[in-house]
Order: sequence, then structure tokens, then C-alpha cells
Amino acid sequence: MSEPTFTGQFTQQEALPEEAIERAVEIMRGGRLHRYNVLEGEESETTLLESDFAASVGSKYCLACTSGGYAMHVALRAWGLKQDEPVLTNAFTLSPVPGAIHNAGGKPVLVETTNDLVIDLDDLGKKIKSSGSRVLLLSHMRGHIVNMDKLCQILNDNDVTLVEDCAHTMGAYWDGKPSGSFGHIACYSTQTYKHINSGEGGFLTTDDDQVIANAIILSGSYMLYDRHDAAPSKEAFEQARYQMPNMSGRMDNLRAAILRPQLARLETNGTRWNELYDALAEELKGHNGITQPQRRKKERYVGSSLQFFVPDFSAADCVDFVRRCSERGVELKWFGAEEPAGYTSTYQSWGYIDDQSLPKSDKIMSTLFDLRLPLTFNVDDCKLIGQIIGSIRSDMN
Ligand SMILES: *Cc1c(COP(=O)(O)O)cnc(C)c1O
Repeated sequence: MSEPTFTGQFTQQEALPEEAIERAVEIMRGGRLHRYNVLEGEESETTLLESDFAASVGSKYCLACTSGGYAMHVALRAWGLKQDEPVLTNAFTLSPVPGAIHNAGGKPVLVETTNDLVIDLDDLGKKIKSSGSRVLLLSHMRGHIVNMDKLCQILNDNDVTLVEDCAHTMGAYWDGKPSGSFGHIACYSTQTYKHINSGEGGFLTTDDDQVIANAIILSGSYMLYDRHDAAPSKEAFEQARYQMPNMSGRMDNLRAAILRPQLARLETNGTRWNELYDALAEELKGHNGITQPQRRKKERYVGSSLQFFVPDFSAADCVDFVRRCSERGVELKWFGAEEPAGYTSTYQSWGYIDDQSLPKSDKIMSTLFDLRLPLTFNVDDCKLIGQIIGSIRSDMN
């Protein structure tokens, strides 16, 4: 009897909506791809996208830019991070996060992770005290949302500013409020593997007049900042226009054109993702020796990827498991690997940051596996993936 193999591609996203393609072609025919290249009375596609996105998360301002990493870096600068200032962040995150802190001149201070893959609030409390940091760049890593009520309480009590990294929570909610609407600033990514796809791209949202003015100038607006639809008053730019360096990172109209129709489908796609996620999660529940992080009741996640543990595996088992799953067409990533591979690296390999010890996160990541669920999969695919994972796990008893 031959064993079933999965033949789908874990990195294959859906085609863009026809409407997005048509609009992109129109923009190309018009030739005005630069966001500030507008005719009299015209609003650029980028400006329109910013308005759409700000409205979707209930934010006063949005700046569209070249990547999520760029948005985080600019967020910290626009907020006023000082050279060598400590910035709290999750130990369990991806490399653009510490990279953005470093780029803004900050020093990442890593905070432990819980079994549910969210930031450890006890450790956060300790590290706020020990580092004296004024800001947390919170990564909603893999879409797991920490108890935002408790988190905000801790930050308020200690006068720490929240910047949210919503690369994995665009379209997600905590207690009915959009992820990203809790922080002073929030950052999103529109890179191919996130929830809307322009190849590369990002957003920064905030209600703070000075932060948005600074961010607009930083992004390379020259003195054309009055072409932003939702821009703060001239006064906010008075200082910014002389003080903020131009760190070119503008979004262009072509990407904006393909993002707008996708944004309109974000809610629907969130539901589609969760059908896939829930089918796989359910299948994995039926297999011994596999556990999954718990979701909180107030969390409305977007299940574009799934994480699970095989708690009794050794490192050698984990390597073997990834290989065997791959032979059956199931591409897993393992967070316990010593060498960074593909998109996955852990804090030990970020050699440019200060050495830090996170024993709890090490333990958690040592048996943590991760897989993507692109919308090109269907529910039956997810059931098959779950069966393959489960049967290989049982085989390895
Ligand atoms: C993808 C990602 C980002 C932003 O990435 P860009 O590629 O710079 O758009 C930020 N945080 C996390 C956790 C990510 O996975």
C-alpha cells in the first residue's frame, strides 16, 4: 500500500483578483507610477489606498511604504527613539523585527515566550524594570494575540509606548477591535506571504499628528507632503521638514492599485483562512503526541499559518520528522534548528544584537513546527496534511 503524499505548494499564493490586474494595467498605461505624480485635482492610487486602510483599522492616519520592516524602522524613528536606546520585543519573532530596531539605532531587549506563543507578560514586567526601556515593539508573531487588556495595563502602568507589528494580524481582532488599534503606532506588511500581496510593501498607522508628519518626511515625501489626503496640519511639519532625513521608502501607485481590491476582500479571506486552519487544527487534535498553542476567547485570528509541538521529540527526532514530512510533500519549518534556514531564524543567529539568554523560549522553540496555509489549499488538502503529519508522528513512537 503506497502512502498518500501531498502535492500542493506551500508557497503558492492565489492569483490576484482580475480587478486588481485591470487597475494595474490602467496605471501602467497612464505612466504616473510615482505617488506624487498627479494631475491637477487627482488623488494618487497610493493616497486612496492609505485612506482605505486607515478606515479599515479605524486609524486617523496611514502611510504606505516599501515594506513592513521599513514601517517598523520608521515608526521608531518618527516616535523619537534615541541612539542606543533599548527597545523591548519578542524573542519569538522573525528577523525583520530586530533588524528594524537596529536600523532605527535601538538595541533589542528580548522578552520570553509562553507555551501559547505570545509574549510572556511576567518577563515583560521584569524586563521593563531591568532595561528602563520606554517602548515595546510587539510582534503578533504567527498571528497569536496576547491578552491585550493585560498587556495595555502593564504598559500604561509603566509608561511604556506600544508599537504593534501586525505582519501576521492584518484583518485580525482582539475583543472586536482591529489588531493594530491598540498601539500608539502599528505596522503591517503586504509582502507576498502576508494577508494582502503586492510582492513587497507595508503600512504604518497612527493617530499621532507629529508621528505621521515625521514618518511622511522620513519616507521621502520631499516637500510634497500636502499631497497626502489625511495629513496633519502644517504645524506638525514645521519642525519635521527640517529635522527628519529623507530615507526613501515610498509606496508606488502600481502596488497600491493591486492592493486596494485585495483589501476589500480581507474579511472574506480571513474566513477562508480560518476554514483551512480549523480543519487542520481539528485533524491534528486526533493524534497523540501533538499539541497546539491555545487561542484566547477574545481573539479573532487569521489562520494563514499553523504551529504545533511534538513535546517529547529530541532534536534528532525533529530533524528526522521534518525530512519525513517533506518526503510526503508536507513542508514544515522547525524553530529549534541551530542553523537559520529559509525564512526562519532564531535570536541566537542575530549576531548584531547583544547576547541574551531566553531559556523558556529556547525550550518552547525546540519542539515547535510551523507550516503555511496558502489560500490555494482547500479543506481536504488540510485534512490530508494533518493525516500525513499524524501518521509520521505515530510511526516515530
Ligand atoms: C514579514 C514580517 C515582517 C515584515 O516584513 P517585510 O518583509 O519587511 O514586509 C515583520 N514582522 C514579522 C513577524 C514578519 O513575519
